Amino acid sequence: PYEVLVVGGGPAGSSAAIYTARKGIRTGIVAERFGGQVLDTMSIENFISVKKTEGPKMVASLEEHVKDYDIDIMNLQRASLLNKKDLFELELENGGVLKSKSVIISTGARWRQIGVPGEEEFKNKGVAYCPHCDGPLFEGKDVAVIGGGNSGVEAAIDLAGLVKHVTVLEFGSELKADEVLQKRLHSLPNVTVHTDAQTTEITGDENVNGLTYVDRQTNEEKHIELEGVFVQIGLVPNTEWLGDFVERTRTGEIVVDKHGATSVPGVYAAGDCTDSPNNQIIISMGDGANAALGAFDHLIRS
Ligand code: FAD
Repeated sequence: PYEVLVVGGGPAGSSAAIYTARKGIRTGIVAERFGGQVLDTMSIENFISVKKTEGPKMVASLEEHVKDYDIDIMNLQRASLLNKKDLFELELENGGVLKSKSVIISTGARWRQIGVPGEEEFKNKGVAYCPHCDGPLFEGKDVAVIGGGNSGVEAAIDLAGLVKHVTVLEFGSELKADEVLQKRLHSLPNVTVHTDAQTTEITGDENVNGLTYVDRQTNEEKHIELEGVFVQIGLVPNTEWLGDFVERTRTGEIVVDKHGATSVPGVYAAGDCTDSPNNQIIISMGDGANAALGAFDHLIRS
């Protein structure tokens, strides 16, 4: 059996595995897709100490770093169930079962997609999900934010300081963000808000050139010309497979304490799959290191 089994091979999982391996602990990583969301990222400019890089390049260095240690990497394997008998037992979709004394869950999250024509086609060509990451790429341009909840309105406020103009599109009849955020939003000169607006298509040729929506009050179809669309309708943690095994929030995030410990002793979690408030590479790596040290502490005491 393993002493630590890391489930998920993104920045959080890679960092956790390196930290436990460096303690001389028998470590394995199971990943559906090693690299995680970083593989889908074009340009990364906020990983401190690296001025600018690309997702696949960062994943290659992550992999190189992990492989520098005696860590079993089980890539292209999807975990489907976690149980505790004498040891923890992780069931894989392929029927295999892996045993371990402790587990670090780092299965990340996925952006909720809007599912309209053009979204998939123009991903990284004007369709974006992360304002902290991609906002600066749209400096001086016209963009839209789809979603009027806290993340959408925060994104719009953030972007308004960089881009020429922001149009916020909310499907419902009013914005759902906190009052103070809405106030801030309405105080900005370069923001327009459309409620009752159902986005139906993201248009473009090489890159995004516009967005079509239906005004649900009048049923009229409208088109806006712009160069960027930020989809901000939520982030879904990849934790469905855990069921009730560990405590999760209403939205599925794994509840962790300061040490990355979950509700089950010996099970830790890190990165975007947890209830930690900000989802970034640098933060996930820090969380992974923290959870690894938590797991190490647990192992030497049990
Ligand atoms: P993830 O990267 O999501 O990795 C999760 C891992 O778990 C993957 O290996 C996945 O295959 C695996 N997994 C999932 N389910 C299972 C399962 N059931 N069994 C086994 N394995 C499983 N952040 C920045 O800091 N800067 C940026 O510029 C930036 N740009 C971004 C651009 C895009 C398009 C996206 C999508 C995100 C961006 N982010 C950026 C956010 C950043 O990528 C995430 O915060 C970070 O990758 C989270 O790391 P993680 O390890 O927690 O999860």
